[in-house]
Amino acid sequence: MHFEFSEEFAVSQDQYDTLAAYRNRFHFPLIHGKKAIYFTGNSLGLQPDKAEEYILQEMEDWKKFGVEGHFQAKNPWFSYHEPFAKLLAPIVGAKESEVVAMGSLTNNLHLLMVSFYRPTSTRYKILSEQKAFPSDLYALDSQARFHGFDPKDAVVEIGPREGETYIRNDDVIAKIQELGDSLALVMMGGVNFYTGQLFDMGKITEVGHSNGAVVGFDLAHAAGNVSLQLNAWKVDFAAWCSYKYLNSGPGSVAGIYVYEKHHTDGSLPRLNGWWGNKADSRFKMERSFRAFETAEAWQLSNAPVFSMAIHRASLEIFNEAGMDALVEKSRKLSGYTHTVIEKINADAGEELIQVITPTDQHERGCQVSMVMKKNGRMVFDALLKNGILTDWREPDVIRIAPVPLYNSFKDVFDFYSTLRKILL
Ligand SMILES: *Cc1c(COP(=O)(O)O)cnc(C)c1O
Repeated sequence: MHFEFSEEFAVSQDQYDTLAAYRNRFHFPLIHGKKAIYFTGNSLGLQPDKAEEYILQEMEDWKKFGVEGHFQAKNPWFSYHEPFAKLLAPIVGAKESEVVAMGSLTNNLHLLMVSFYRPTSTRYKILSEQKAFPSDLYALDSQARFHGFDPKDAVVEIGPREGETYIRNDDVIAKIQELGDSLALVMMGGVNFYTGQLFDMGKITEVGHSNGAVVGFDLAHAAGNVSLQLNAWKVDFAAWCSYKYLNSGPGSVAGIYVYEKHHTDGSLPRLNGWWGNKADSRFKMERSFRAFETAEAWQLSNAPVFSMAIHRASLEIFNEAGMDALVEKSRKLSGYTHTVIEKINADAGEELIQVITPTDQHERGCQVSMVMKKNGRMVFDALLKNGILTDWREPDVIRIAPVPLYNSFKDVFDFYSTLRKILL
């Protein structure tokens, strides 16, 4: 695509953009009384317009019905999670039976690893990526320790080659093959939180399986950001949070995916709770546990209705807009972002900003991670002063995520012209 460095160009792109109106469906924070240019949807997505109304509905039903709300509420709490499968499935490329909105991300990773990390004395290694999100590495280390292994030996992290900024997919594949019979589990981010690199999950799953390993992904930075085909890729399990790209509010309910062939596999261990019991006998309070024959079997507790109300408001927007259209716009928006950064470097005559995110649109989502070669913190503060909210990572990285639901080409242009003024 051809990009220009003028406001007219950006504004005309917004005029052609069929998703432009979705911006009005979100609440923007104000900076100096003006709507912020919000580039931190990868960290905490914006509030959807219907979120408050949907929560108030549940508050009202609680007021009106008390415990009877389980069946009398407009959206009965007893079966509250059920309609979410239909909304989540297209976002992660799964069958409805394979997804469920539940729990929180790190908790869910542990629950899933109870089922899917089953090491033996010889096959016990876990492959992850270097600079994975710390919570994931803590979870992996503690899982290894829980099974009696030394995490230093059991958890293998693959990193970029010397002098490179992100990890070659081929190196991940080679590492899986090298670990071979010792590899129990591949468990990595679908999109790395730091660099924004999108991994080739289909290929990694295929090679993982051919080496006898189980393959799962943390999709915290992938769900709602990139095109996912979990079922077609035959990924064994995945988990994500809903407060980043999925705009469902701080600490809101998360989600899991379990590949269909595992649903009725009686040999899989699983930690059970009453919400994993089939709906028709759940409230009979019987001694015996009758598991759902879907991903719902992994549910433990009754649905956190208030946070799920927000989640529904957000997922409805995703389903209206459609992931294909969102990904298409996202590629253009972040393509534009990469281009304006190159332009600033070219005009400066030196690399002031090193982009550590892959430039190939098949290897990234919308996030662009920038190493600031000079005065990074000052640049971050100056952007903020100018109404542009970005994300700062010590010692020198600024991450921005132009998200297709509520960012515009004009936002990227304003970022460009402001950054130019700060740097040049
Ligand atoms: C955001 C994020 C988390 C956060 O975990 P919570 O359990 O939701 O607090 C974990 N892992 C990754 C990869 C993340 O991006």
